[in-house]
Amino acid sequence: MQVGGREFRDSLPTGLARVPVIELVSLAFGSYPNVESFNSGFRPGHPKMCLTLDGEPDAEVGDAVLHRRLVEAFPGLTAHLCQAGGSDPRRGICLVEDDPTANQAHLLEHLMLEMLSSLDGVGRLSGVTCAYSSPPERSDIFVECDRPDSGSLVSLMALEAMNAALAGEPLAPCYPDMLVCARELRGCSADAWLAAGLARATGLPTGRTAAALEALSRVRVVQEVPFAMNFSGEPLYRFVGVGGTSA
Ligand SMILES: [Zn+2]
Repeated sequence: MQVGGREFRDSLPTGLARVPVIELVSLAFGSYPNVESFNSGFRPGHPKMCLTLDGEPDAEVGDAVLHRRLVEAFPGLTAHLCQAGGSDPRRGICLVEDDPTANQAHLLEHLMLEMLSSLDGVGRLSGVTCAYSSPPERSDIFVECDRPDSGSLVSLMALEAMNAALAGEPLAPCYPDMLVCARELRGCSADAWLAAGLARATGLPTGRTAAALEALSRVRVVQEVPFAMNFSGEPLYRFVGVGGTSA
């Protein structure tokens, strides 16, 4: 992948496990200097990721509940500095009144920042969410992102987490575990993993690791390896990243 404003439509997540209520319209990478004035935290010229998405105006889960579910699974969100609406920066995530799709996009922005920071070990990242006037459910999210492969991976996991939260599913421990496992898998040269081996590498319990691998398999970040001599009967997975195909 390259950075430079080119769209990566062929790398859009295709493995979402349920019919999404927040839908990804496009994913692209570039420097986007025109948005840097919207957040004083942006570093001029720094590579960014741009997601365009359509929110769900009639979600059964309210913005405040969605916010709480995300924070319960990713408590680091409470330490974010937010200056939504042009206000002075405040800790946490500021929601606006009576605009659920803008709030969904804004929450997704912060979730992607949190996941990117964890995945790439970056301490400071900035972003901004811009709502469309038409169609009203559409938003652009711009997030500083050095690695397009990380951005694509995080987009997929964060969208899946948002839609799981909107569907009333618990996010913890599965989604934070998915992130830990993806980080380990991406950084390791091992061809294929059993849950027990990955659990030893990450320090997570084996059962939770198996659940995280299965969830990563559903969104096609890992693939189960057909292995005729796997006498244990346990699934063996290999990391393929976003947009991977079977060998
Ligand atoms: Zn914010």
